[in-house]
Amino acid sequence: MTTYICDVCNGMKSLASNCPACNHLAEDQGKLSDFYGPYSPYRPIDELKASNGFEDLSSHRCIHVACCSNCNYSFPVSIQEQMQFDK
Ligand SMILES: [Zn+2]
Ligand SMILES: [Zn+2]
Repeated sequence: MTTYICDVCNGMKSLASNCPACNHLAEDQGKLSDFYGPYSPYRPIDELKASNGFEDLSSHRCIHVACCSNCNYSFPVSIQEQMQFDK
C-alpha cells in the first residue's frame, strides 16, 4: 500500500512561490483546508478547490495558501504530493 505525503506539510520543503501581483516571495500560510476550515463554514473545501480550478481530491495534491508580505495578496498553491512506500 502506498500513501502520499506533502513535502511542505512535512517540513521537507518550504513553499517557494512568488506573488502573482508583485513577484515578491510569498510565505506559506498552511493548508487551504486548515486556513479556511474554522473561518469559512459556509464554503465547503471541495467547492473551493473546484472554483479555484484545481483537480479533484484524488489527484494527490495538497493545496496551500501563500500570503505575500509585501502587498498582502494571498493565493492558493497546489503542491504535488510524493508517493511513500510503507516500510
Ligand atoms: Zn501540504
Ligand atoms: Zn505581492
